[in-house]
Amino acid sequence: MTLPERRVYLDHSATTPVHPRVVEAMAPYWSECFGNSASSHTFGQAAASALEQARQTAADVLGCHPSEIVFTGSGTEAINLALWGVAWAARQGGRGNHIVTAPVEHHAVGRTVDQLRELLGFEVTRVPVDGYGRVDPHDVAAAVHPGTVLVSVMAANNEVGTVQRIFRIGRVCRERGVLFHTDAIQAAGRIPLELGEVDVDLLALSAHKFYGPKGVGLLYVRRGTSLVPPITGGAQERGRRPGTVNIAGAVGLATALRLAEEERVAECARLRRLRDGLIEGVLESIPDSHLTGHPVHRLANHASFAFRGVEGESIVLNLDLEGIAASSGAACADGGPDPSFVLTAMGLSPDWGIGSLRLTLGHDNDEDDVARVLEALPGIVERLRASG
Ligand code: PLP
Repeated sequence: MTLPERRVYLDHSATTPVHPRVVEAMAPYWSECFGNSASSHTFGQAAASALEQARQTAADVLGCHPSEIVFTGSGTEAINLALWGVAWAARQGGRGNHIVTAPVEHHAVGRTVDQLRELLGFEVTRVPVDGYGRVDPHDVAAAVHPGTVLVSVMAANNEVGTVQRIFRIGRVCRERGVLFHTDAIQAAGRIPLELGEVDVDLLALSAHKFYGPKGVGLLYVRRGTSLVPPITGGAQERGRRPGTVNIAGAVGLATALRLAEEERVAECARLRRLRDGLIEGVLESIPDSHLTGHPVHRLANHASFAFRGVEGESIVLNLDLEGIAASSGAACADGGPDPSFVLTAMGLSPDWGIGSLRLTLGHDNDEDDVARVLEALPGIVERLRASG
């Protein structure tokens, strides 16, 4: 399907286009070097060598040992491996029954900890967040007790762009001997992820959020961390993620991660300028509008707003009619949209919480795209308010 011309894509937190250099790096691994990395013949060995090269590249970027990298089938799968893996290992070792997390986590974490509570009887504490969606490390310290086996707090929020204090939260966990997992899926290429500098034991990434392919994720597992993987089968990925490995995907993820890190500082500075112009323009031109998430500690490409009394989904549909792709945080339920659980946790009242709009910038955006939004959005919000 080809899209009409002059479309503006402002939904890079949902997914990104694959970088041409990533496409190029992956190309040989579909039908030329197509072997199964578990096979001992030459085709298999070529695939195994590409896989280990990809692992080395990812490890170099993250500042860890290659054996600490597990390739998975998505970011969600990486998170499930971390959470179920630690929970089962704790069960097996007869250690602890308590998990600490936050109410603003992506469903990949939120629904998984709920399952651990419902199916395995884990006790779950969700520490509160402030009006910007930030967790206070002191609250994490206060929530941890001798039965705590895991703390899971995301590095950056997908809906409101707020960056968490993972250095301080990691330190709290390390001092108390509790494992720390962070969902860094929105953070890669946007904030530094130097694993030697942060006390994190498990960290999940997803290639399609940083100009890599869909359907491939990565879990960093600090050496010595016990996991009982939720998927059973073969010995691939040291038994931590059984199943024939997606070699093209692993090569794509590693290449995209390297490029994202190489471009990070300059690209984030450029995006931050565009983002700040967008935020300023929206808040100035639309009455009863509010920036959601932290004004400073937020992802460089991320602008998110709430508009009193307007449904975010209606704004998204109207923007799409004007050739602009955006997204809304509210979930549609029978009988109308539900306020976003993230905004609710941040204390926004429901008449603001249904009006959330997320505009996330990327490689191809420029000042003209920001101008297009500032031209279209005020009229859309005004019309929707008048008709509502
Ligand atoms: N965590 C966060 C913060 C996300 O933004 C997403 C994707 O939207 C995920 C997890 C899930 O990642 P994936 O799409 O690779 O399963």
